[in-house]
Amino acid sequence: MNKTKNNFIYNIITKDLKKCKHKKIYTRFPPEPNGYLHIGHAKSILLNFNIAKKFNGICNLRLDDTNPSKENKKYVNSIKYDIKWLGFKFYYDIYYTSQYFYLLYKFSIKLIKNGLAYIDELNKHQISKYKGNFNNLGKNSPYRKRSINENLIFFKKMKNGFFNNGKISLRAKINMLSPNILMRDPILYRIKFNKHYKTKYIWCIYPMYDFAHCLSDYIEKITHSLCTLEFQDNKILYDWFLNNLKIFNKPKQYEFSRLNIEYNVISKRKLSILIKKKIITGWDDPRIVTLSGLRNRGYTSNSILNFCNSIGVTRQNSLIKISFLENFIRKELNIKSQRLIAVLNPIKIIIENFNKIKEKILIPNHPQNKNMGKRKYVFSKEIYIDNKDFKEKKTNGYRGLTIGNKVKLRYSYIIKAKKIKKDKNGNIIYILCKYYKNRKKNNVNGIIHWISKLYSIPAIFFLYYNLFKISNPENKKNFIKYINKKSLVINRGFIEKNIKNINNFSYQFERKGYFCLNKNFKNNNIFYFNRIVKLKNII
Ligand code: ATP
Ligand code: MG
Repeated sequence: MNKTKNNFIYNIITKDLKKCKHKKIYTRFPPEPNGYLHIGHAKSILLNFNIAKKFNGICNLRLDDTNPSKENKKYVNSIKYDIKWLGFKFYYDIYYTSQYFYLLYKFSIKLIKNGLAYIDELNKHQISKYKGNFNNLGKNSPYRKRSINENLIFFKKMKNGFFNNGKISLRAKINMLSPNILMRDPILYRIKFNKHYKTKYIWCIYPMYDFAHCLSDYIEKITHSLCTLEFQDNKILYDWFLNNLKIFNKPKQYEFSRLNIEYNVISKRKLSILIKKKIITGWDDPRIVTLSGLRNRGYTSNSILNFCNSIGVTRQNSLIKISFLENFIRKELNIKSQRLIAVLNPIKIIIENFNKIKEKILIPNHPQNKNMGKRKYVFSKEIYIDNKDFKEKKTNGYRGLTIGNKVKLRYSYIIKAKKIKKDKNGNIIYILCKYYKNRKKNNVNGIIHWISKLYSIPAIFFLYYNLFKISNPENKKNFIKYINKKSLVINRGFIEKNIKNINNFSYQFERKGYFCLNKNFKNNNIFYFNRIVKLKNII
């Protein structure tokens, strides 16, 4: 809530209330059920619900379902689930624009009767040609002069399914010479013979966004209709409909900037292309910033809300750094995650002078939080270390194990690498080492993590990287060209046996990042993990 207080919309509403413009504040969150919600929607949800809460008002969830060819129940369910997951409640029930289809139809008849709408027989391409562009003014359709009576008859026939898809449309009669192209007789209704997931086959005509949205806002008594900046030019149309339908207590539209995040596409249209092309596995792929994707990856709703709160609400478009988002989940996980040890890319070490079977030790569950206690860990003759922690020859600045040199095994002994045993293809089978009882860290290259072979369980690690190679793919028409083909790396390694007795939401694997279980896989002998986020400062 903290930032809501400072944003410009809060200030507008405060002034409106001072002037007694409204008795109660109503906002709405109006997603189209044509895809899953993303983090941009979370920003809008937070804004709308929190503004309403702040002023003792109400925020409606409205499914903006005016396009039967793209919308379905599966998306409605996912939207409801995600909003609840974020922690918001719907006041009354959920609203649907499709509930208002009859009222909207009545409003359009009123426009026709007032000489402000007509049936056009130009097809889609002709309409767009007649509209002109920024440099060329529009041209009136030859059907613009049709009589009111004829328009009413045609519209009724249109509604009753007399015409095929695209044959005719209902357009507002505004001004084909307007400098704002949106005002050049926009389409109000088009024919679509698709089954609507809610109204089934009742309707074959569907209202366009600009017409339906302002009137749905009016029907729901919305006072402040908050949308993203790209609707700025549509505002004049929003007001035109309300004014020309002689509506009192008009809702008012205000725009704020869209959320964009580096190395991601956010728009549902682009996300659905990625799904169709099988570049990602679905709307909940952990590499995308849909709420379900982030949830699968291991993000908490709390971290997303804190992030949205801290970016604030302005009218300046900006591209938010991915590291900014990551900081919120890292901060949260750092506090609550139990530490464990995992080796993501194992190399076997044999310690030639260790002759016991095993040696038990106790290691801390959280270095900064002693209350989290200690756990049993085991040292033995055969251990695994990460292949990033071994190089045959020492190079400048390298902190791992090299032949002839020493490293400290974290929480345990110092070892020195003596020789490498390779197979005939040159792959390392194991590295022969010697251990020192004296644990003084003189002459050691660095400190590395390790797992005893006796105390490990096989594990598979899903490591996620940016889906795009460029920071702003949202701006590129051919965004697919910039896909990072290595956005998912799957490693086979080991996790310490203690995992069997711990059932936490997240873990920090020392030196490797924060992980959670990957719920798509289940196997009693292997653990599957998602890396939620890396530790700071690791490559
Ligand atoms: P998309 O381009 O992802 O399809 P949209 O605007 O078409 O977005 P809707 O489902 O119509 O998606 O959006 C519902 C609400 O969420 C709208 O009020 C919209 O302005 C807001 N919204 C959508 N994307 C963002 C974003 N990136 N940042 C902030 N608000 C957003
Ligand atoms: Mg939309």
